[in-house]
Amino acid sequence: MNAAGRGTSLTVKLPALSGALLALAIGVYVYLADGAVRRSTLAAATLRLTSVTDQLADALRRSGTQLIASTRGMADTSLVAAFIDRPTASARPAVSAVLRPPGAAGRQIASAQVFDTRRRPLLTVGDSSVRAATAAATQELLGALASRDSGLVGRFLVVGDSIVYPAVAPRVVAGRPRGYVAVWRYLTATPQSRQQTTQLIGAGSHLYLGDAADNVWSDLDRPVAPPPVAVTGTGGVLRYTRAGPEGGAMMAVARSVPGTPWVVLIEFPVATVLAPADAFLRQSLVDAAVILALGMLIAWIAGRRLTAPLARLTRAAEGLAGVAPDGAPGRGDEIGRLSAAFDSMVRHVREAQQELERRVEARTRELQDRNEELESFAYSISHDLRAPLRAMDGFSQILLEDFGDRLDASGRQYAGRIQAAARRMDLLIRDLLAYSRMTRAEIRVAPVSLDHVVRSAVSQVEEDARARGARIRVDGDLPQVLGHEPTLTQVVMNLLSNGLKFVPAGRAPELRVRTEARDGMVRIWILDNGIGIAPEYHDRIFRVFERLHRQDEFPGTGIGLAIVRKGVERMGGSVGLDSEPDRGSSFWIELARADAGQR
Ligand code: ADP
Repeated sequence: MNAAGRGTSLTVKLPALSGALLALAIGVYVYLADGAVRRSTLAAATLRLTSVTDQLADALRRSGTQLIASTRGMADTSLVAAFIDRPTASARPAVSAVLRPPGAAGRQIASAQVFDTRRRPLLTVGDSSVRAATAAATQELLGALASRDSGLVGRFLVVGDSIVYPAVAPRVVAGRPRGYVAVWRYLTATPQSRQQTTQLIGAGSHLYLGDAADNVWSDLDRPVAPPPVAVTGTGGVLRYTRAGPEGGAMMAVARSVPGTPWVVLIEFPVATVLAPADAFLRQSLVDAAVILALGMLIAWIAGRRLTAPLARLTRAAEGLAGVAPDGAPGRGDEIGRLSAAFDSMVRHVREAQQELERRVEARTRELQDRNEELESFAYSISHDLRAPLRAMDGFSQILLEDFGDRLDASGRQYAGRIQAAARRMDLLIRDLLAYSRMTRAEIRVAPVSLDHVVRSAVSQVEEDARARGARIRVDGDLPQVLGHEPTLTQVVMNLLSNGLKFVPAGRAPELRVRTEARDGMVRIWILDNGIGIAPEYHDRIFRVFERLHRQDEFPGTGIGLAIVRKGVERMGGSVGLDSEPDRGSSFWIELARADAGQR
């Protein structure tokens, strides 16, 4: 395809392509159909031509036989027979009238003669020029007749602008010829009979009667030029071209007429034979043009319906990509333009994405820096706050111990409350520092024995457990997990001490630790028989300082579970719980199995 073709719209290309395909298909069909119609038309014409020619030859054979019989009949009339026996001058008019009767029948006779046995003419009637022209042929015919006793018809002869043909018959007495009668007739046909022939054979046909040996041919009216090929009177269809205004390619069939030297030939212009085939071809071409036009119209409509959304999409994509419609290298139709627009869009998106990633990275770094700054600031502040607190605690203690006897009851109570507040504040700061450490400390995960972790955590809460009359049960062998041992011990300990703490007064705490394998992970469950937690608080309790109870109900700082969540997340795990009020709580943490990577 050339450069212009590449840029052509699909609305033009599609109908053009389907039109070309349709035209090819119709062309092949018309070509094959036309060939078939032509062959069958020619075959039918050949069949008709052969059959009509055969019939005509047979009809002419019969008329030849009749001609001989009538000539023989003339010779046998009593007038002619007597004249042959004794040719008197007085009998001549009557004999002449027998040979050439007045009226239409007599006008056909060009010349008639009576001969004696030595073939000398006894009487002659008719055209003297015909008689002169035919004398030699008559003698030849009589010579041939000498050995026969019936009669003969002879060859055609051109005399002036007429054609004449002879019939001769002997006058036989007791098996011996006594004389002869020779009659030359004009070869003519009435216009009606010629028209009948034409109707029989078909319009445009020509009937010729000829003499193959002498190559004399007539159209039953006058002499005509012989056919331009050798005619034998047998065989199949002859094909030749005739010159002249009515000429052209011809097909013909010739048949010898039995018992005569004549040949009948019927000729038919090939153009006339093939006229129906030509008409079929013309009609087919008109039909083909209509079908082609319809096909292209349908293809155009279908193409438009098909390509309209594509064109809209292309325009939209070009608009988005900021590409000029003709700015696409390569194919310039809708598909080419669409792909160019998409390429450009992809480029833009990739650049935008890279820019975004660069910015996110920079912001994250900035944020991390700020966070670290903030955390270290909080850490140092918290740390520094503890010194004045310790002073408050120490001086309250001194006040109570050294000056207690000088204070009244209210004074002692106030000093005690100052000391308690200072201690609680210290506890809060310590927990905050612990949370802050958990956030900042370097945590490297490695295989950790859960067995070891749980045992160490249990031992750390043992005293509290004993004081509360609690029971802690650990189920089965605990596997190895990927974690950080000090962090994990802190997490388990926090959960155990919560389980011991949040139990209704008068109930002995019962704790249970068990593990569950989960698709490469280990879930560690810590179950208690405590007060339970309503589902709407399940998320809140993991935030810093979130508590659900008053200090005098259950003491605490509200940081324990925040440390649990932070610690587990930093080890790459997750945390959650199942709990409802008064039904105990089941906290879980999930970490990777230590051997998960090797399986
Ligand atoms: P603290 O224990 O210091 O109050 P935590 O962060 O450990 O703080 O717990 C937050 C809150 O979650 C607790 O105040 C309590 O209301 C609730 N809680 C934690 N563990 C349990 C538990 N095992 N049973 C019932 N409530 C619990």
